[in-house]
Amino acid sequence: MGKPSGFLETDRQPGVKLPVDERIKHFNEFESNVSDSVLEEQASRCMDCGVPSCHAYGCGVKNRIPDWNDLIYKGHWKRALALLHSTNNFPEFTGRVCPATCEASCTLSINRRPVTIRQIEKQIAERGWKEGWIQPQPAEFKTGKRVAVIGSGPAGLAAAQQLVRKGHNVTVFEKDDRIGGMLRYGIPDYKIDRSVLDRRLNQLIEEGVSFETQVDAGIDVSAMYLSRSFDAVVICVGAQIPRNLVIPGRGLNGVHFAMPFLTQQNKRNAGDTIPENEAITAQGKNVIVIGGGDTGSDCIGTSIRQGAASVTHIYYQDVPPKERALCNPWPEWPTTFSTSSSQEEGCERFWKYQTKEFVGANGNLTGLKVAELDWTRPADGSRGTYTEIPGSEKIIPADLVFISIGFQHCEHGPLLMDLKLELDKRGRVKIDDNQMTCLPGIFAAGDAELGASLVVRAIYSGRQAAAGVHQYLMSERTLKLKENESR
Ligand SMILES: Cc1cc2nc3c(=O)[nH]c(=O)nc-3n(C[C@H](O)[C@H](O)[C@H](O)COP(=O)(O)OP(=O)(O)OC[C@H]3O[C@@H](n4cnc5c(N)ncnc54)[C@H](O)[C@@H]3O)c2cc1C
Repeated sequence: MGKPSGFLETDRQPGVKLPVDERIKHFNEFESNVSDSVLEEQASRCMDCGVPSCHAYGCGVKNRIPDWNDLIYKGHWKRALALLHSTNNFPEFTGRVCPATCEASCTLSINRRPVTIRQIEKQIAERGWKEGWIQPQPAEFKTGKRVAVIGSGPAGLAAAQQLVRKGHNVTVFEKDDRIGGMLRYGIPDYKIDRSVLDRRLNQLIEEGVSFETQVDAGIDVSAMYLSRSFDAVVICVGAQIPRNLVIPGRGLNGVHFAMPFLTQQNKRNAGDTIPENEAITAQGKNVIVIGGGDTGSDCIGTSIRQGAASVTHIYYQDVPPKERALCNPWPEWPTTFSTSSSQEEGCERFWKYQTKEFVGANGNLTGLKVAELDWTRPADGSRGTYTEIPGSEKIIPADLVFISIGFQHCEHGPLLMDLKLELDKRGRVKIDDNQMTCLPGIFAAGDAELGASLVVRAIYSGRQAAAGVHQYLMSERTLKLKENESR
């Protein structure tokens, strides 16, 4: 620990966000970095506490946060970068989009403002790119083993990078036209500029990863072909089946799932043209977003940037408390009232609304019928129960509604079905401790096995799967089996 009194002397100073009226004019990132010297001071706030909950409990990739905070405070940026990369392949992604559960579990956050861990992570990575410290790390020798990775989101990319660095020949199959999963088509560009993704993809390509886009595994290449032609397969197909809201009027024009809307905007930003008959735009419209989370927030920020006339965000839950409830102690993620950067940009928020019906005329949406809910909250603050308030129904005018109430699981299409993979009760691919599915040599990672989660957890899962694959491929038993097969 570099400076025992750092947390007493220095207050939290994160990067500065562009003012709302400036940032909503474009889809560019809007959070600035602090100077290197300010960042070093910020790192000095880390108390190197006995049990670093940020690392052990809060961080999805088990980043060694106190150690790199100490290195940054002492000015050893290159060593901090190496330490960061030892647990996280893509710190510049998590440094931008992670909700920073580590900060919620930072000991300082008990009675002060936590260390700016996410900002420090981002700036270590950015300095690494600027200084040229981040270079391809091709394997020194080749194993001759072939691995197929299905899906190119953060889980697939992390698995691919770990495996190619171990000397395996890795091919990533992606059904979309561009690589990146939700980092490409999902998360808005204003949260992560696509050049940040492309820069890292070039590193993977130079390390030897082959990418094949517009290949729907299970359809364009059969599951049988994949399992026979590759020594191992890692399924990283995400959890892209959205939860639906099955209420009257669901088929009206103007009612959409969140993802097509967000993806179209990502594509426009990339220079693509969306055919007019498919385009979903919020310009000049009264928009309602149903459901919270990142996806809901992203619909708000995107609608505002497109020039929506109004944006309303509705939740069926009770208003979260301002302070942690008894049932939600530190170091857990606080389920307290918060405002995302997109909500800050201008939307009305309503809690305790039950959605009853999409209302329309001539096949087009004109409003959303809701009823108010009465929630009872137990004394410890845990989730209560609700009843509908009789006579509270009303219609909120709307031209466009986005359903953003979460994702069910990965697609149970030909790939999973033909391989006859076991699924759990929630429809996730079942894996063992080495991330292997019920079929030897077939592994799974990311949202496909976790359920809809976070970029940081997808990276960790991809890394774990890669370790499982490497162990499997290099184990004596597998080597003998393969030798016998080739005789
Ligand atoms: C709108 C939105 C915003 C989000 N914002 C955040 C955020 O701010 N911070 C955060 O931490 N997390 C966020 N998340 C969650 C995060 O993006 C995911 O948890 C993460 O991307 C999961 O990674 P993955 O690699 O498992 O899957 P994905 O990123 O979903 O990638 C799966 C890939 O597999 C491909 N694929 C699927 N089936 C096949 C097939 N048969 N053949 C070939 N390819 C296939 C898909 O096309 C896709 O490219 C967000 C999610 C969404 C939807």
